[in-house]
Amino acid sequence: RAKEAGRNGFAFYDPEMEAETRTRRQLEQDLRRAEERGELQLLYQPQAEVASGRIRGFEALLRWRHPERGMIPPDLFVPLAEASGAIMPIGAWVLRQACAEAAAWPRPLDIAVNISPVQILHGDLVALVTETLRETGLDPARLELEVTEGVLIRDGAQALGVLTRLKALGVRVAMDDFGTGYSSLSTLRAFPFDKIKVDRSFVRDLDTSPEAAAIVRAVLGLGRGLGLPVIAEGVETEAQRQALAAIDCAAIQGYLIGRPAPIGSFGTALGRLG
Ligand code: C2E
Ligand code: MG
Ligand code: MG
Ligand code: MG
Repeated sequence: RAKEAGRNGFAFYDPEMEAETRTRRQLEQDLRRAEERGELQLLYQPQAEVASGRIRGFEALLRWRHPERGMIPPDLFVPLAEASGAIMPIGAWVLRQACAEAAAWPRPLDIAVNISPVQILHGDLVALVTETLRETGLDPARLELEVTEGVLIRDGAQALGVLTRLKALGVRVAMDDFGTGYSSLSTLRAFPFDKIKVDRSFVRDLDTSPEAAAIVRAVLGLGRGLGLPVIAEGVETEAQRQALAAIDCAAIQGYLIGRPAPIGSFGTALGRLG
């Protein structure tokens, strides 16, 4: 295919781009059938209290095991699914699977599910959540939906309507990747969030960069001022955990507490024997 006409007015053929487009199309096609073929799986990552280390809940993280390409990370396939529309059935599967599993846990810990902007703006997310809660019998108070701010800025009025109706169901809404968007502060004011998740890019540099530490402190202050709990993402080291404890960050998530894993490996935290 001809790429855009170049500076001299020549159109040129770019075999590399052609191959990329083909791969992308193939993956999009494969993705549409991934669920029915049993290639999708949810891993769970614990969220813990800083002081006690007690696990309070889990975030469900989607994995795709492609028959030929092996494990494909969500950062790669979720955007494809969003572009093709496949995110609608996949997102519905994720929600149902996570809620059904959580409803069966011996202890009523929280379950956080990532929601794509596409699910908020197209289709009926409120009906999906209502239906899923009814089907699985999960207590709505245990369900937290994680949303990034992109969609909220692009289509604010509609997103606000959806978030408001979701909250009326008794579920909570968390702002994911806080601090990485264009206008996190005004987004926080305009939408009814219940929690702030500080992006891991700030946590990563916490113990080495005074700037990153100042930002995390400011977010904690913001959370206190707004009455919103704050959780720090991507905590990998004991030094980071201590730095967060020192500035009164109450909750953390990250490899230090636990990597995303099949729920069975958290048996003890869930109250199962062994
Ligand atoms: P996210 O929601 O911000 O999820 C956190 C990501 O950080 C996860 O990557 C997690 O594995 C990773 N992580 C957690 N702790 C640490 C740590 O200590 N160090 C490092 N380096 N990384 C850590 P993952 O599972 O690859 O997911 C990436 C993104 O894909 C998610 O970011 C989320 O935006 C999206 N995603 C995942 N599952 C779903 C889903 O079911 N639906 C939708 N729409 N998006 C999903
Ligand atoms: Mg998330
Ligand atoms: Mg995040
Ligand atoms: Mg993210």
